[in-house]
Amino acid sequence: MSEADCLFCKIVAGEIPAKIVHETDRTLAFRDVNPQAPTHVLVVPKEHYPDAAALAAADHGLADDVIKAAHAVAEQEGVAASGYRLVFNTGAEAGQTVFHVHGHVLGGRGLTWPPG
Ligand code: 5GP
Ligand code: ZN
Repeated sequence: MSEADCLFCKIVAGEIPAKIVHETDRTLAFRDVNPQAPTHVLVVPKEHYPDAAALAAADHGLADDVIKAAHAVAEQEGVAASGYRLVFNTGAEAGQTVFHVHGHVLGGRGLTWPPG
């Protein structure tokens, strides 16, 4: 399942280049083009779902795979022990700009709370 005009479907298809850091049969992780922390990686399912709720509603374990892949990225980046933030911006007011679900793996510096 992919959408013709979806940026992240195009990255999954190899039509737009990205710095890929991790891949499984069902997920892809690549560096954010505008990093907000020393580690800023986006983890996506290869199938197109618009947001985290739609991914979870599909109920076939893919949401689990995305979260497991995010942790594998954090381990690979050396931030799993120190701590990292896994963010799924959902909807415009939360700052979602790409409507292909993606988890932001952020780490490598102290992250403040509450978020901006
Ligand atoms: P959102 O705002 O939807 O939660 O996150 C979208 C993220 O995608 C942003 O952090 C933005 O920097 C990143 N992004 C936008 N366009 C590209 C691109 O072409 N390549 C990569 N690697 N990241 C992108
Ligand atoms: Zn897509």
